[in-house]
Amino acid sequence: MSGRPPIGTRYRITWIDGSRNGVTVVPTGKSVPVDEVNVMRDGDGSVITVSLHQLGTPEAVAIAVATLRTTAEWASNNDRDTMREVADQTERSWDDVSCPVCEEVDCDEGCPLKELRAAVARGELRRKP
Ligand SMILES: [Zn+2]
Repeated sequence: MSGRPPIGTRYRITWIDGSRNGVTVVPTGKSVPVDEVNVMRDGDGSVITVSLHQLGTPEAVAIAVATLRTTAEWASNNDRDTMREVADQTERSWDDVSCPVCEEVDCDEGCPLKELRAAVARGELRRKP
């Protein structure tokens, strides 16, 4: 097991200069070290090799967290605090043993994290470094 995420997984990488790019995991040759992976950058389509640690959170998780944080601003007091808390927990522990949203080890039917967490359980998605 290389620990690389599956081909097609989307991430957003923040580069040293502060710019951000969407990238998609593409096939990685045998000559690349096991802790690195090839990704294709959005826009120019260039393929570059990055450290697994640079990948951060899968884009699907990042979008879910950002959506929660934005909609939390529309809610008031207790509701807003609850939504922010769930956003923080989702960002921090989306791949923990129990789910931060439905609180089950194997997600309940209808849990928005079900498929992502199932991919982690199958070894298809990398846990946080
Ligand atoms: Zn769940």
